[in-house]
Amino acid sequence: MRIVLLGAPGSGKGTQSQRLVERLGIPQVSSGDLLRAAVAAGTELGRRAKEAMDGGRLVDDSLVLQMIRERLGEGDTRRGFILDGFPRTLAQAEALERLLRDLTQPLDAVVQLEVDAAELVRRISGRRCCADCGRVFNLFTSPRTAIESELCPKTGAPHHLTQRPDDNEATVAERLRVYEEKTRPLIDFYRARGLLRVIDAMGDVEEVSRRLSQALGAPALRAARAAKSATRRAPHRTGARRKAAQPKSARRRAKSATGRAARRGKARAGLRVNTRGKSPRTTRAGQGRPKGKPR
Ligand code: AMP
Repeated sequence: MRIVLLGAPGSGKGTQSQRLVERLGIPQVSSGDLLRAAVAAGTELGRRAKEAMDGGRLVDDSLVLQMIRERLGEGDTRRGFILDGFPRTLAQAEALERLLRDLTQPLDAVVQLEVDAAELVRRISGRRCCADCGRVFNLFTSPRTAIESELCPKTGAPHHLTQRPDDNEATVAERLRVYEEKTRPLIDFYRARGLLRVIDAMGDVEEVSRRLSQALGAPALRAARAAKSATRRAPHRTGARRKAAQPKSARRRAKSATGRAARRGKARAGLRVNTRGKSPRTTRAGQGRPKGKPR
């Protein structure tokens, strides 16, 4: 699935993206994380982005677009991705639309996470991040002692909690203002394209996760998970040696079974299916369960 999560700073896009990554096995592409990594690494992009980020303003569209274009060109996004924090302006949304059209990978859904302003400020002020593994916590939902008793997967020591430099009061006010002015108009942009789903993102993380799953459509999520396991099981993806050992005809059969299963999953989920003129077929007796068939 190719998903955009929209919402103000503090609406939970990052947290919900991480949960979708675990469920669907597709990567989170967070423009904020990519920019922070560029700043930390001292790259040219980071140097040019830092001032705007420190002031709570948006980084230039051209810089962000170049960065996203490169990221979406990486192999792990071929089966899908969750865009978090991008697009943030109409120009970015239009450029993304063109890019995905060129890649013949259109978006499946855009979900707007709605949270009221007082709650946004409260969440941002409680937000802490592990400096080593990057996991995000909130002091209002998990007490510091509970967080620190967990071990960081990177260091094996307790998480090293830090506060983002732009999570201070003055910068947060500017980020919320910028969101209203530049990013909120994207709601209408995606509504007009029939992609928008809006969810109430107040409440606890589990509750919001459930609403997000409903908004994405349980059948669509099942299809995405089926595609994930089909990719894992498909023989032609399990290594060059095994691939070479297989006769060509078997490879062709496996490939078309995987394609059919994915198309059937998508058709059940009500997503667009390219059957290239063929109607979906069932597997022949003796071939067993088609690879990737949704359970
Ligand atoms: P975030 O982690 O998404 O809150 O982003 C942190 C900061 O990175 C923002 O306040 C902006 O300065 C910058 N940023 C992140 N994503 C974008 C974007 N799509 N366009 C422009 N600036 C961005």
